[in-house]
Amino acid sequence: MIETDLSAAALATMGAVFGLLIGSFLNVVILRVPLQLNAEWRRDARDFLGLKAEASAPLTLARPNSRCPNCKVPIRPRHNIPLISYIFLRGRCNACAEPIAPQYPLVELSLDYYCLFCLSLWFECRDGL
Ligand SMILES: [Zn+2]
Repeated sequence: MIETDLSAAALATMGAVFGLLIGSFLNVVILRVPLQLNAEWRRDARDFLGLKAEASAPLTLARPNSRCPNCKVPIRPRHNIPLISYIFLRGRCNACAEPIAPQYPLVELSLDYYCLFCLSLWFECRDGL
């Protein structure tokens, strides 16, 4: 059994924050991996056909920084806090006021719920032994 000095509330808070962060990262993966695969396919197709390569900045999970899909303005770090920024901005882009897709908070909340569920199972196991 793992002894800890942290209270259940502190662990639950850390679990909730962890879930939101993982959810935010999953949103990046959901958005960028298909774009990366498409860019790779286009590069391979142009190479196969002997065409000149397209000049484009490489897209990774870390770069470039997140941008509004509508106005392309980079999202400031304070506007990129999972779920909290969505609520603070009332679901709209800070630059152009275009609605932000509900997918982002829903994925973050889903992962948050999953992390808290796993944490509750861990508490049950810990207390049951
Ligand atoms: Zn915008």
